[in-house]
Amino acid sequence: MIQLSDRLLAMEESATIAMSRKSRELKAEGKDIISLSLGEPDFHTPDFIKQAAVEAMEQNYTMYTPVPGYDDLREAICEKFERDNGIHYTKDQIVVSTGAKQSIANVVMSLVNPGDEVIIPGPYWVSYIEIVKVAEGIPVIVNADISADFKVTGKQLEDAITAKTKLIIFSTPCNPTGSVYSKDELQGLAEVIARHKNVVALCDEIYEHINFVGKHESLAQFPEVYDRVVTVNGVSKAWAMTGWRLGYIGAPKEIAAACSKVQGQFTSGTSSITQRATIAALKKDPAFLKDMLAAFKNRRKLVLEALQNMEGVHVNEPGGAFYFFPDVSSFFGKSYNGTVIHNANDLTLYLLEEALVALVTGDAFGDPKCIRISYATDEATLTKAMDRIAAALNKLN
Ligand code: PMP
Ligand code: GLU
Repeated sequence: MIQLSDRLLAMEESATIAMSRKSRELKAEGKDIISLSLGEPDFHTPDFIKQAAVEAMEQNYTMYTPVPGYDDLREAICEKFERDNGIHYTKDQIVVSTGAKQSIANVVMSLVNPGDEVIIPGPYWVSYIEIVKVAEGIPVIVNADISADFKVTGKQLEDAITAKTKLIIFSTPCNPTGSVYSKDELQGLAEVIARHKNVVALCDEIYEHINFVGKHESLAQFPEVYDRVVTVNGVSKAWAMTGWRLGYIGAPKEIAAACSKVQGQFTSGTSSITQRATIAALKKDPAFLKDMLAAFKNRRKLVLEALQNMEGVHVNEPGGAFYFFPDVSSFFGKSYNGTVIHNANDLTLYLLEEALVALVTGDAFGDPKCIRISYATDEATLTKAMDRIAAALNKLN
């Protein structure tokens, strides 16, 4: 009999991926499912990036690359950090991986010992918890609810730090809430982190360019914490390159070297062709992304208005990313045709069956009062989905 490891058995399947698989299966059965479950842009990768990949193949960039990434890619990443974020990194502080997901896993593997505490402000992205658990770290959740725009304060962070705290992991703009930390708010966190010399912070900035409220701010910009902050970024979201698999970190040298060591045993790094294509993406002025941003802004408006018109749905206005995270707890205890909605999980299943719309339960992101709606799809589909959700919610009493 095959006996899987305790480590694997303790791991949950990614809820975002599970829900998108489920909606794909239902679609294959002929059901007219609208999937707003996966955080994946519906845009195609820009042509100039595809062209760079074609040229890379023609030029035989087809062999193993240096584990942390080609030198000129890491130089392009340093220039990107300087240009967009005002952060200075050298090449030996950069490690390129197969997606930001692997970047995060590398950092956690490099830093966390069994029993170390990792503070994760909630709501959080699903995979943080499971990656920490695999490393036998202890996730410590610090919650911020919708009334705080889902953002934690320096005081909350201070109260959660103990002698065992090793790492803090959070995203800005945030998946699942869309909340964007302002410079002042980040400074508040930086002041606390600065006082705790054994704590490292991982700031996941993968949604950097999907920001509707102003300039993106990075935690590593503050000199008092720069040498203990890891900045995670990648090309999946803004450059519509989810399938290409490339993420990267800017980090203190020791952490970058450790991540490179982990990666040297686990994956040897990401695809040579993807790396060449990413040089083209990162060298482009991000102003190129304005049409995509405008499309996301219109979609956000459409969904926000629809949600605000649904009685019982409590929603904040997300400043970035492409998610809404409404509080739907007013529906708990209601029912339709004998189906009682006890929690967000029940409501998500109800909306899948009754509205044929796939969403993700807030439990997966640490807030069981909420559900996550990804609006990375066209306006006609979003309108249809919102109408269906409104009709299904109206049936509950
Ligand atoms: N961080 C956050 C907050 C995300 O939403 C995602 C989405 N996949 C990732 C990291 C990982 O991105 P990728 O591995 O595609 O670069
Ligand atoms: N990050 C996206 C999401 O949250 C993609 C799925 C995943 O990587 O888990 O839906």
